[in-house]
Amino acid sequence: MVQARVTGSAANCPACGVASHRVHSRYVRRLAEAAIGGRPTVPKLRVQRFRCSTTECPRATFTEQVEGLTFR
Ligand SMILES: [Zn+2]
Repeated sequence: MVQARVTGSAANCPACGVASHRVHSRYVRRLAEAAIGGRPTVPKLRVQRFRCSTTECPRATFTEQVEGLTFR
């Protein structure tokens, strides 16, 4: 098992594009299994859910994404 966490303090809302620093919660995502060094591996990543700061935005909260690693 490999565990990692995202260390960024802000993320852009996917709906309105505005950056938010307001962390709503954190949780662990299990990513697609892969082989590392020829051994089966279970990657887990702790991500943050943010509150959108834009009043009119239809997304109240959103989860940060890591380019090339996680997808909605
Ligand atoms: Zn938004």
